[in-house]
Amino acid sequence: MVKDLKELIQWHPDIASLETIGKSVDGRDLYALKLGTGKEEVLINASHHAREHITTNVVMEMADQYAHLYKTNGKMNGYAVQSILKKTSLYFVPMVNPDGVSLVQLGANSAKNKASVLKINGGSANFSAWKANVRGVDLNRQYPATWSTICCNPGKPSSQNYKGPKVLSEPEAKAMYDFTLKHSFKTSASYHSSGQIIFWHFHQSGSRKTRDYALAKKVSAKTGYSLVAPRSNPSGGGFNDWFIQNEKKPGFTIEVSPYVGNRPVPLVYFSSIWKQNNTIGLMLANETIK
Ligand SMILES: [Zn+2]
Repeated sequence: MVKDLKELIQWHPDIASLETIGKSVDGRDLYALKLGTGKEEVLINASHHAREHITTNVVMEMADQYAHLYKTNGKMNGYAVQSILKKTSLYFVPMVNPDGVSLVQLGANSAKNKASVLKINGGSANFSAWKANVRGVDLNRQYPATWSTICCNPGKPSSQNYKGPKVLSEPEAKAMYDFTLKHSFKTSASYHSSGQIIFWHFHQSGSRKTRDYALAKKVSAKTGYSLVAPRSNPSGGGFNDWFIQNEKKPGFTIEVSPYVGNRPVPLVYFSSIWKQNNTIGLMLANETIK
């Protein structure tokens, strides 16, 4: 991924740039790729959860194809890429949790503290179901949005669902938080897997709810994924929970792929996932300039 990001900015210096927004627990760089030269900003992120690393491929494919279509003045499903990316900037954070993804893909030897991850994993060397960061904290339960009442918290480091000792205790979540506050994103899309559903609601009401629901329906129409019905008491702690609450802008948590259980999405699903999601970045950017 890092090699591809660096190649992409070399090929497209006119619209693409790369910055490091922080470091993971084990010291890996956390990258944000900016694509576009316009004022209106949209954030797209992936792989908060380790085993959901196919989402990194989805957003990297977006960046790659949008950049190419910009250069060739092309369109994707009717979206004129140049005219959109001259008025907007898409920010991709393609892998929020590189330590966790490395653990799933490469095993315990990828971690600085091998003994610790094996212990958290109950002694098993099979990390395919791991969602957390390398310290066993679920990064999508770290954000300050009704954090104190998050449901089903195991109370100690775990392969999934542990919300951590305090809000933003983990450097990966803190990096996302700080990066978001430095910008004024009009929309956020967080890619997760699996289940072909979209979360969009977190306590918003009135005109904000109407606005966000209208956009959610467009994302649903493109992807074919179902919108999760608003709950009176959602769990909280997720990036988009906080984004919706704090930035007061629409945030979507998009769960790609048919449901596959507690494991990475098999690569065989990639081409259908891509067709369902290819224009989502352009669509969200375009909505900010309509
Ligand atoms: Zn997830």
